[in-house]
Amino acid sequence: MPTTRWPGSGTGPVVTDRVATGGAAGPLEAWLFDLDGVLTDTASVHAAAWKKTFDESLARRAGPGVPFTPFDSIADYEQFVDGRPRLDGVRSFLESRDIHLAEGGPDDEPDRETVNGVGRRKNDLVLALMAEVGVVAFPGSVALVRALRAAGRRVAVVSASENCAAVLDAAGITDLFDVRVDGLVTSEHGLAGNPAPDTYLFAARELGTEPSHAAVVEDAPAGVAAGRAGRFGLVVGVSRGATADELLRSGADVIVSDLAELLDTVLGTVPDIR
Ligand SMILES: [Mg+2]
Repeated sequence: MPTTRWPGSGTGPVVTDRVATGGAAGPLEAWLFDLDGVLTDTASVHAAAWKKTFDESLARRAGPGVPFTPFDSIADYEQFVDGRPRLDGVRSFLESRDIHLAEGGPDDEPDRETVNGVGRRKNDLVLALMAEVGVVAFPGSVALVRALRAAGRRVAVVSASENCAAVLDAAGITDLFDVRVDGLVTSEHGLAGNPAPDTYLFAARELGTEPSHAAVVEDAPAGVAAGRAGRFGLVVGVSRGATADELLRSGADVIVSDLAELLDTVLGTVPDIR
């Protein structure tokens, strides 16, 4: 995908030609934000919890002829678990190592070697880590959400996490969102997780907007792919763990390293995205 820099800027967001030439038509009346890694600095907590969980499982299986190859917190995290529902993450990573566990059930204890048990173990670790280190919202992300609200745009948070409400509360940003589509809503309505577009399409409906008039903001390749699959008007890739190239390949229109880079656009002090 050919790219260019923001008009008149050498350091602003990277914008694909589809956006720079006005290819994505329509005003953006709603913005849909991923949680972990976009609004809150919690992606690293998830990566650490996944690594501890999977490495313990892998170490137990290692032995003569079965080398211990640990979970890679960058490559494996991005490819198999980031942005996906927790149990999908368990299945997809373990299957990549040719490990196929029984599903088990939601009441499985964390020491059960089932998909649900491993997922429970990971979630317990995430909650313990968050309680220990706290949850911080990215200032640039909060500034953009506040600017969007002030400009009359509707804003949603979309996350596969069942802990979404607790994380928003801990970060002190619950009141900034008109709609929350999280892991609980996803289960209740039987929505498929990323890279399927279902959760973002559901949020757009809740906000009363067409996908073509809404923006999706994601840091995971699977989440960016969901935004593209849903034919949203704009897909913003926030490059924190995943590289700009990976996000562009997944279908992002605009790449930023911090959402404050979009403030000028939202406030109308540089030419609009369209
Ligand atoms: Mg994320």
